Amino acid sequence: MKGFSERADVEEVLRFLAERTAALAPEPVPVDACAGRVLAADVRSEVDVPGFARAAMDGYAVRGEDTFGASAYEPAELAIVGESLPGRPAAATVAPGRAVRVMTGAPLPAGADAVAMAEVCSERDGRVAVSDAFAPGKNVGAVGEDIRRGALALARGRRLRPQDAGLLASIGVASVPCVRRPCVRLVVTGDELLPAGSLPVPPRIVDSNSVVLRALVARDGGLVLPFEILPDRPERIREALLAPADAILVSGGSSVGSEDHAPRLVDELGSLDFHGVSMRPSSPAGVGRVGDAWVFLLPGNPVSCLCAYDFFAGPTIRALGGRSRAWPHRRVRLPLARKIASAVGRTDYVRVAIEEGSVVPIATSGAGILSSTVRAAGFVIVPRALEGMPEGAAVEVLLYDDEDAA
Ligand code: AMP
Ligand code: MG
Repeated sequence: MKGFSERADVEEVLRFLAERTAALAPEPVPVDACAGRVLAADVRSEVDVPGFARAAMDGYAVRGEDTFGASAYEPAELAIVGESLPGRPAAATVAPGRAVRVMTGAPLPAGADAVAMAEVCSERDGRVAVSDAFAPGKNVGAVGEDIRRGALALARGRRLRPQDAGLLASIGVASVPCVRRPCVRLVVTGDELLPAGSLPVPPRIVDSNSVVLRALVARDGGLVLPFEILPDRPERIREALLAPADAILVSGGSSVGSEDHAPRLVDELGSLDFHGVSMRPSSPAGVGRVGDAWVFLLPGNPVSCLCAYDFFAGPTIRALGGRSRAWPHRRVRLPLARKIASAVGRTDYVRVAIEEGSVVPIATSGAGILSSTVRAAGFVIVPRALEGMPEGAAVEVLLYDDEDAA
């Protein structure tokens, strides 16, 4: 065993990754499955929506000028010459002194330019008394008022919201080009590991890292490929590194111990671009490539694994999927209840609680203590240039979830 001779700076690794990662190629996605996906090209509408003038209210299609001056004392009396229903062509035409009964969504009959709402109308013996005035255009949905033919419906790069997918359906699109979701292979190594769902039986422990990673990858828009826990055997790890993927997350065995095979294998099969980073936790993290896949060596200690994922794998998986590399966490700025000690030249990931509006670093924060991240509201990043942060300083907390903001 030998230690790390030199460690890279976090920023250097991030710059390296950012310079070499672009969004994956687009694939067509059916419109009813595109919400949450990243649009890969601008979408222009080829149609007007609505494509016809329509009633925006139940009532009577009229010529606005026929109702001018109408009131409850002196209603306008119009002859009803037909009815217009949604989904059917309007049959009758509205000539002066005439009206057509209409339902919301029905095409506006020719000649009409307004809809008198049912609430101010009373119908008797084939005639309707309208007791209010309606200006032309009133209660009428104009052609293209929702979206115009030729208009940009949605721009590339947009992460589609449910309503965006609805808009795409409304303009008659069957599928849209979306950035392919990155396929992520988990390579979970360790002779001591039992699969999640088992009871830990000493001296074995349950693999919790894959459970965390799976959820993080889902958050970042990736797809986790089927995987199994591997023993610390180089031939098994080699095989997993060579299987196709856009990104490979190696959990455990990332350091320089006798059972830490992954770094050597990545170097041999592709390139081990970084191994050892000036950060705490996760200093044995590494980054490399095998074939088309980015490989992230994540230390097995659960906090290190989470931290190394969030620093390096997360932004890369998001970028491959066409999303922003930026931290996806919401942030709050609050004063520090106690100072945080760090060292110049090292980036620290400090789990913190928020108590009565101030930020409390969590004391027992060894990298093996997963519950420290459960008790934490979020984390503070102490940048490389700082020796620490003094009590009372306003610090930015990246929240593990929104509810903890309070
Ligand atoms: P390693 O990085 O393989 O040296 O592992 C460091 C520590 O993390 C050891 O205590 C391992 O037992 C633990 N560990 C490794 N893999 C996992 C995992 N998948 N889930 C939980 N703990 C793990
Ligand atoms: Mg191990």
